[in-house]
Amino acid sequence: MMTKFDSTFRNEVNITQPYIQGETEDEVRRKYHLDKVVKLGSNENPYAPYYHSKNAMIRSISTLNRYPEDDFVNLKQLLADENDLKPENVALGSGAGNIIETISKMFINEGDEVLIAKQSYRLYREVSKLMGGKVIEIPLTDDYQFDLEEFQHKITDKTKLIWICNPNNPTGTVTDASKLEAFMDQVPDDVWVIVDEAYAQFANHLSLANFVRYIGRKRVMVVRTFSKFYGLAGARLGYVLADPEAIQAYDTVTEPFNTNRTAIAGAAAAIQFDQAQIEGTRKKILGDREGLIESLGLLGFSVAPSQTNFVFAKLPDGAPNATTIADALMKQGVIIRDCTPWGYPDHIRVTVGTHKELEFFLSKLTAVLSNL
Ligand SMILES: *Cc1c(COP(=O)(O)O)cnc(C)c1O
Repeated sequence: MMTKFDSTFRNEVNITQPYIQGETEDEVRRKYHLDKVVKLGSNENPYAPYYHSKNAMIRSISTLNRYPEDDFVNLKQLLADENDLKPENVALGSGAGNIIETISKMFINEGDEVLIAKQSYRLYREVSKLMGGKVIEIPLTDDYQFDLEEFQHKITDKTKLIWICNPNNPTGTVTDASKLEAFMDQVPDDVWVIVDEAYAQFANHLSLANFVRYIGRKRVMVVRTFSKFYGLAGARLGYVLADPEAIQAYDTVTEPFNTNRTAIAGAAAAIQFDQAQIEGTRKKILGDREGLIESLGLLGFSVAPSQTNFVFAKLPDGAPNATTIADALMKQGVIIRDCTPWGYPDHIRVTVGTHKELEFFLSKLTAVLSNL
């Protein structure tokens, strides 16, 4: 095995790929000497933090000399109520990414088989490899759904866990609810299904499989985040729902205070007091998403049916590849995601920013396409 970092590092570290971050605004501004940069590469929420959330975070700063103790209790209760569960069914983490890492530490022994979709959030693969898991990648179907028949075929007596991202990143698509539920019903009882619902609140509820109702009946954990819908990406907070035993194990594996008072205060206030503003934002994002899909269609793109705050678009026939387009846009001050690393060299992923940001993006995209 080739050493990537240094032979003194754990073998698993040397086979793990670094996380590919979106470009930052500052980097792009400096590199290309631009005044204006619009970032549509990381699926952030341009309308947050919300009013009460922001004030609660400001107030929390004067309490930062203390560990977050009661804070955990209060937020767990709010999240339990929201999901018809008990606080014993809820654990927190410093973002869904931190939770995903902790889950892989909980379950994966060396040689355990782990099933993932080939074109999905990449962290599942790297954290699974880091724990010595044998990762089996299953391509999405042509309509960007999880190929559940293929997942079922790949389950063996060595399978430990299955990562499902629903709605999926980078495609923005939801896998058919009845198919997912039928799949859950036949997953062997000793296999864990981990569902990443980072974008669930943007999705149409009727089309979204209900994994929470499997808690206690199947080995399942549901992961969500405050980074996207609640707009607290910089605060770092996520949560996981599962049966009490799994939650206890999770809390044992993770560090004792794995998030901070400020993030918790912001999240709790948003849930309790900012719902009207949040609902307004949801409507705005979903409306602008439809407008964006229509405009991209007019430019010759075909866009997958999105249930998230981003769109996944296939370039017009005859256009150069996504890397060329993304680089050209970056020089014009627009950051989007080139989907080549997922095996989609002719797809881009674009966050639904504000209406103005999207207009800026579309004007630059039109210019880029006509100059190539
Ligand atoms: C953004 C994202 C995450 C990570 O979210 P954080 O809570 O910011 O760590 C996890 N899963 C998916 C699918 C995401 O898109």
